[in-house]
Amino acid sequence: MNNRSLIALCDVNNFYVSCERVFNSRLVGKPVIVLSNNDGCAIARSDEAKQLGIEMGTPFFQLKDLIKQYDIQVLSSNYALYGDMSERVQQIIRQYTDSFENYSIDESFFRLPDNDVVAIEQSARLIDQIQTWLGLPVCIGIAPTKTLAKLANRYAKKQKLPSKLHLLSRPEATDALLEKTDVGHIWGIGRRMKAHMHAMGLYSALDLKNASPKQLRDRFSVVVERTGRELAGTECIDFEEMPPKKKQLICSRSFGSRLSDFETISNALAYHITRGCVSLRKQDSHAQSIKVLLESGSFSDDGGIRRYSIGIQLAEPSCNTADFIKAGMLGLRKIFKPDTPYRKTGVCFLDLTDQAERQVSLFEPAPGVGEEPADYNSEGLMQALDAVNQRFGKNTLKFAREGTHAGWTMQSNYKTHAYTTRWDDLLRVQ
Ligand SMILES: [Mg+2]
Repeated sequence: MNNRSLIALCDVNNFYVSCERVFNSRLVGKPVIVLSNNDGCAIARSDEAKQLGIEMGTPFFQLKDLIKQYDIQVLSSNYALYGDMSERVQQIIRQYTDSFENYSIDESFFRLPDNDVVAIEQSARLIDQIQTWLGLPVCIGIAPTKTLAKLANRYAKKQKLPSKLHLLSRPEATDALLEKTDVGHIWGIGRRMKAHMHAMGLYSALDLKNASPKQLRDRFSVVVERTGRELAGTECIDFEEMPPKKKQLICSRSFGSRLSDFETISNALAYHITRGCVSLRKQDSHAQSIKVLLESGSFSDDGGIRRYSIGIQLAEPSCNTADFIKAGMLGLRKIFKPDTPYRKTGVCFLDLTDQAERQVSLFEPAPGVGEEPADYNSEGLMQALDAVNQRFGKNTLKFAREGTHAGWTMQSNYKTHAYTTRWDDLLRVQ
């Protein structure tokens, strides 16, 4: 009997920068950085930028001299583009497997047949297809467990292997790589745990593999015990083909500058509530309460920040945007103070329940027999709203409360177009 399989991890190299390069070939071969929300700090770097010593998370303002000196290309993050490209990569990988887990925006695990030759051949085709169809460079690591697949992927990328893939299946070869790898580079071992492990004599990943599982459980946790077993080739970490549903949901963002007028801040809050409700409906959840969040203080002086929040309970669980905007405005009115410089607002949805297990109010009319059609039709209204916005682009239909978005949006002064998700932004060939 042979029902084992190999696990592959496909990871896009320098994902955000690579997406930008697909649509702007002048960025190829140059140092490029992508900034976080509000153009705060560097969150993605091309290899050339990494070679200049730019660390992940360096604040933008600290880089200004370096940028001038080396002609570094600077971009604001363009999540519409990255999200769509990620979706396209996932669609291609799914053609090669029945068992697939999207792990992050640029990484996916999937199963391949337990045959080294077949696994390598299929991975090579996949790498080629993603490069040809999307123009994105990826590396693939293949191994009997997720933890080893992560390691194999890291090896393929760091060594710049021409095949862009690495298979760990023979125990001797796996041990040789484990011996050369610091425990800190193993998936799930953070900086503090690494220090702890070094202090007790576990330096290499091979040391961790050879440690007694009981000792790992007693000194650390079941999670670390599993990591040890996975390094030894026993699959212990489940495949999450369906991502677990979120229990709470937060939507918030800093303003582009400080604001003190109620109208503009309420527009921003309504926008975040709308986004949150779309996510609620996407995962078939309802929420019964929200917390309205408001933050005052300057951007430069972190000491001066004050956070305000207020919880608002709904009569019954809902996923209707109008219900939450009403509740949100009520909350905002209670915590808002005039003449105060605010820097951020947001909303947290709490008490999330599945649509199926929702307790219906005694007073809610049964479908088809209610007196107020407009009310019990609101679910249909929300479905129509989502369908239109999905088809014609975000914000095609929106609630008046959201206003024009003009007064509060974040700074993103170096943002490229939504090349793949907006007709108006399609690349033009001249
Ligand atoms: Mg990556």
